[in-house]
This record gives sequence, C-alpha cells and structure tokens, in this order.
Amino acid sequence: MTPDQLLTAPDTALPTLRGAVAGLPSYVPGRRSAGADIAALASNESHYEPLPAAITAVAEAAGRMNRYPDMAAVELRERIARHLGVTAGEVAVGPGSVGVLQQIITGLCDAGDEVIFAWRSFEAYPILVELAGARPIRIPLDHVEGHDLDAMAAAVTERTRVILLCTPNNPTGVPISHDRIEAFLGAVRSDILVVIDEAYVEYAEAGSGPDSLALYREYPNVCILRTFSKAYGLAGLRVGYAVAAPAIAEGLRRTALPFSVSALAQKAAVASLDAREEMEARVAAVRQERSRMAAQLEAQGWKLQPSQGNFLWIRAGEDLLSRLMNAFDAAGVMVRAYRGDGVRITVADAASNDRVLRLLEAHAA
Ligand SMILES: *Cc1c(COP(=O)(O)O)cnc(C)c1O
Repeated sequence: MTPDQLLTAPDTALPTLRGAVAGLPSYVPGRRSAGADIAALASNESHYEPLPAAITAVAEAAGRMNRYPDMAAVELRERIARHLGVTAGEVAVGPGSVGVLQQIITGLCDAGDEVIFAWRSFEAYPILVELAGARPIRIPLDHVEGHDLDAMAAAVTERTRVILLCTPNNPTGVPISHDRIEAFLGAVRSDILVVIDEAYVEYAEAGSGPDSLALYREYPNVCILRTFSKAYGLAGLRVGYAVAAPAIAEGLRRTALPFSVSALAQKAAVASLDAREEMEARVAAVRQERSRMAAQLEAQGWKLQPSQGNFLWIRAGEDLLSRLMNAFDAAGVMVRAYRGDGVRITVADAASNDRVLRLLEAHAA
C-alpha cells in the first residue's frame, strides 16, 4: 500500500488488547457493603476506623492536594526504616503492597520468565505475573493448608526470577515457620528474589512465622513486603512497602508510576507508625475474637487449621460451598467464596462474628 492508501483504507478492525491482557482473570473484589445490616467480612479490612492520628494527618494534608506529593516519599521511607532498623535506601513504597509487587514483577521479569507461588494464595499474584508477560507457576498447598516449600524449590528452573511466599497465607491463614524458610533460602539460587508477603504479619502470634528481617540480613535476595491496608486500617488510601537490598529497592523506586503514593497516604502512614501501640491494642482484640471463633467452630464440628491472619478459612467443596454462600447471602453477611476450594471469613467485631458463628452452626458436620 502507498502511504495515501494507508490513510484512506477502510478499516473496521477495532484495537485489540495484548494476548496477556485479554486472557487475564479479573480480580474479584470483595463485595461492597450496601446497608446498615450488612456485615462486610469479604476483604480482610480492619473493621476499626483509621487511627485518630491518621485521620488528623489526612485532614491537615487535604488543603495541599493541588501539589504533587513527594515522589521519593523521603519522610515515610525514613520513618519505615527507623521502625524496622534498616536504611531508607532499602525501602521502596507503592500504592498498596499490590502496587509494590507489580513494581517487583515488572522490574525483574522479562516475557517468559517464571514466578513461583503457592496455590491457593493471594488472587493478585497470577494477575500481576501474567500482566508482565511472565509465567505463573502454581504449587498446590500441602495437606495442612500451608506452603509446600520442597515442591516449590523443586519447581525452580533457569527461568525462575521471583518466588512469592505468603505468610500467614491468604486465604488459609497458615504461616510458614522461620526454620522452613531459612532452609528454603539455603536451597534456592541467590539470583532469585524471594518475596515474603507479610500483609497480615501484625495479626500473627510472635514466633509463628518468620523473623523476616533476620532472614533478609542473612540472605540479600529476600524482599519483605508489607502494607498499611490491613492492621493499620488504611486500605482505602493505598500505601505499602518493600524492604530489599539497596540496588533492588532503588530499581523498584525507578519502576514505580510517578507520584502513585499520595501525600495523604504518606502522611497517614507516618502518623500510623507513630501510633503503633493503639494499632496493637486493636490487633489484640481481633486475635482474641479469632481464638473465640476458632474454639466455637471446633466445638460445632468444623475442622480448621489455626489461622494467624484476621480471617478464618473453611475448606468446602462445591456442595457445601453453595449451601454456605446461600446462607451467608440471605443473612447479609458478605464473605469470600473460592469456587471448589472454600470460604474465607474476616474476623471483625463481636456482633458480626456472632452472626457468622450462628450461621455456621446450622451447617456443621
Ligand atoms: C491484602 C493483601 C495485600 C495488600 O494489599 P494492598 O495493596 O496493600 O492493599 C498483599 N498481600 C496479601 C496476601 C493480601 O492479602
């Protein structure tokens, strides 16, 4: 065709999405609550409002929304560094830890590279991997709903670039012990980034999961991923962070969408870290409710693995799952169903938890 013909050629084809995008599963968000009687237990949010200091910080920063935020997030990175005993150069922030994880995967993976993770685990993992043109390698959970680290190590190939460990695991609540991760790190190549996703670490009993900072110091190919969305109650503001070797953290900062963490989010996150003791008191109350629920469910006849997150996991095949979901829907209790696998229920205030216990009692074995 001549350039002239190109300009005038009739063209009815519409723009098409890349194959990797067209084939993506959609992220299924937890359903939104739509009424006073609805219990929102589908997204592992905190049922508490943000910490008062965070609300004040956001209100104070609101008058400066005409300005771009600090792209380097210096104050927040320094505050996180002080909190953890690392340097600000080892910290990268992003719009939620999902945002940081996207920076990790796009920063490390070329098309066809492999990312290994347990399954079932966090639903965002396969989406972010496929979006980057990389290959998700799902390794089934073991018989007690935990990571099968031997199988994960055996799945490593020369294309493996990243391994995601989720502890405590979403949606099963099962942590990975320090010793098991340490042995795993000794067995995998040091040029593979091992991401320890600790979105729920604040809810875990001391010693149940890894001392991830100690592992990071011993193995510089470890990357710790944390968020303000869960225990700190800032899910709607979008801020999370990674701790990684300085060269990797610097690379993550370079792959970030500019200004993706708002000034409001940066200020609220700093204020939340300053008010950590208040957060811990709330977390302690959730843990107590988690124990109460687990004990009652066990007494009802449910077989659960102990959860270290702010949620409980009930394994359920098709039939049980559809019975449970009908009952939850009818009662206005929103929980997260995973077809063929089970249901995840966020632990919240005592009244909502009681509704869950009453509902489940009717369906116990
Ligand atoms: C909720 C969650 C996150 C964090 O999401 P944000 O993007 O920080 O809101 C990360 N990992 C897991 C496993 C989660 O469940």
